[in-house]
Amino acid sequence: MPEILLTTLNAKYIHSAFGLRYLLANMGKLQPATALLEFDINQRPLDIAEILLRANPKIIGLGVYIWNVEETTALVAALKRVRPDIVVILGGPEVGYEFEEQAVVKLADFVITGEADLKFAEACELILSGAPPREKIIAAELPEFSRLTLPYQLYSEQDVAHRIIYVEASRGCPFTCEFCLSSLDIPVRQAPLPHFLSELEKLLASGAKQFKFVDRTFNLNASVSRQILEFFLARWKPGHFFHFEMVPDRLPEPLREVIAKFPPGALQFEVGIQTFNEEVGELIRRRQNYERLADNLRFLREHTGVHVHADLIAGLPGESVESFAAGFGRLVALGPQEIQVGILKRLRGTPIVRHDRTHGMLYSSHPPYEILQTSKIDFVSMQKLRRFARYWDLIANSGNFVETTPLIWQAEAQSPFFAFMAFSEWLHAEAGRTDSIALVRLMEFLFRYLSEHSTVEPQVAARSLWRDYQRGGRHDKPAFLKDFLTEESPERRSQRNALLPKRQARHQARTF
Ligand code: SF4
Repeated sequence: MPEILLTTLNAKYIHSAFGLRYLLANMGKLQPATALLEFDINQRPLDIAEILLRANPKIIGLGVYIWNVEETTALVAALKRVRPDIVVILGGPEVGYEFEEQAVVKLADFVITGEADLKFAEACELILSGAPPREKIIAAELPEFSRLTLPYQLYSEQDVAHRIIYVEASRGCPFTCEFCLSSLDIPVRQAPLPHFLSELEKLLASGAKQFKFVDRTFNLNASVSRQILEFFLARWKPGHFFHFEMVPDRLPEPLREVIAKFPPGALQFEVGIQTFNEEVGELIRRRQNYERLADNLRFLREHTGVHVHADLIAGLPGESVESFAAGFGRLVALGPQEIQVGILKRLRGTPIVRHDRTHGMLYSSHPPYEILQTSKIDFVSMQKLRRFARYWDLIANSGNFVETTPLIWQAEAQSPFFAFMAFSEWLHAEAGRTDSIALVRLMEFLFRYLSEHSTVEPQVAARSLWRDYQRGGRHDKPAFLKDFLTEESPERRSQRNALLPKRQARHQARTF
């Protein structure tokens, strides 16, 4: 029986708790007495408590994040009621700042703030020796990467087969975007590259195919990024897929060269743009070169097979619906395969709070602490933006309607934002919900909207929807389309696309 349990509630089963694997890898002599147990937020806190208590540990370490803080609070409450003698230690970003009033912190015995990779083992040693730390809040010093044991060998066969494999080549971010916790996370520290690459080699040998880098700005050090990309390129096999977060205005020629050599769909770049409004960018201390950014996105779209996922944030201080709409239109014109419209969240510890009074920022007091209204966007308009974001995800980002989505604005020569907003509000009135809408029903809504509320000919809408439907590998013709499909225009997925993950394969055919 382990004396120490490390545990957390992941957002989904396929996610793996990367931070806890770091803690386990660095337990030192306590590692044999430590076990890692992962759950997800769909499991009931009492059932999780039962499983944890069955192991009869002395210490439980819990990772607390914005997506699990409510469930974790219920879990810790149950654990401490049934077994008050078990020492509960919390860590993670949700308890790293402004923790004084948090219910989960009040329930726990200790909280480690900052990077707990080494501190957790130190705290456990003290507790097990009978001389626990004096303070409840334990601040961890920033650990040197060279002192850390990398955790990659802790990914099991099961993880490799069924879960996303997270890796990191660096920690920290030198930028200062005020909405982001990583802006507090300086200096940037690099994992020792040869050792890191040898660990990746082992992961590849164990069959890992999909890697998600959690580095905040993978392209910060172009020389290191290039070496990592060359490493993967030399070992690339069908099914390999690598995800990186990039700053958009930084893509020097040596990086471009290697990126262009990857097969289509092998690389995914998550590119945070957040706003095209320069005044807003200044206000939140996110400075970027918009010309270079546009040039880089065009390069990625026209000369590489990279799948680009670009982020915008709605609700930033100083941003109006109109300025957000203009930025959205600029981004659509640059053609990334996915545009994520995120609603601003007020993360604990982030300096964005300094705008609360001057910009009328009101946030929800419940996780994920989304913005409710600002001085420029009232509550009703923010609700519309929230629905817009959800429907954009269902329709445009899903890759299910790559050919049909642009018809929503192209036929009317309208701004993509306002045209999609009109559709979004119509859809909400018709469907009455933003989730759990089956694909064929969504398709029928699109068909009705285009043929009854726009200038698109019903036959044009029907053919476009039918081609989109077949692109997803389906061949049963939905009944509502039959009368409008006079001739078949089958579109076969290319053999190349058949090798790609489904969503990326559909996006390779994107027409806007
Ligand atoms: S948003 Fe990106 S660039 Fe800005 S501080 Fe956060 S991680 Fe760094």
